Amino acid sequence: MKRQEHFCADESKGQACMDYAETRKKSREVQLQVAALENGTVIDHIPSSKLFQVISLLHLEKERSAVTIGYNLKSRKMGHKSIIKIADKFFSDDEINQLSVVAPNVTLSIIRDYEVVEKKEVRMPEELIGIVRCDNHKCITNNEPMQTRFHFLGKERGTLQCHYCNREISLSEVKLV
Ligand SMILES: [Zn+2]
Repeated sequence: MKRQEHFCADESKGQACMDYAETRKKSREVQLQVAALENGTVIDHIPSSKLFQVISLLHLEKERSAVTIGYNLKSRKMGHKSIIKIADKFFSDDEINQLSVVAPNVTLSIIRDYEVVEKKEVRMPEELIGIVRCDNHKCITNNEPMQTRFHFLGKERGTLQCHYCNREISLSEVKLV
């Protein structure tokens, strides 16, 4: 049962129904886009070119619950975008914030019982471990079996710095491990 589709279907319900529909409008708009996810997470506004990196960063290839992917959907804001819906999955902030290196403007909606109960945005973590590759060939992380570690140097600078060799990498040129 998709309860959002039943709003004001019966016009004889009158003003009360209209008011109720208005207050629900925002979440309904989101829900119409995301169809019927009963519980789980919707990741919206993914640049289509970054979809597969997002899938990989969240390890969705190993996910056991239902994952629905909308690729190259029309978007007024972005031209085209992609959406991922993951049933019965709620990510930690750390997992979500990893997305900041590839898709900093995605929005997450947490769905419970067909309602959007929370919206989250991605925030760049101060430290990224095992996500970004260092482009200094002499860096120890490229020569030893170990995880990379980068510090975020702030929005104005827009760079990450390798913890081990101090190499700075622009966010626009980040390569994933
Ligand atoms: Zn390095």
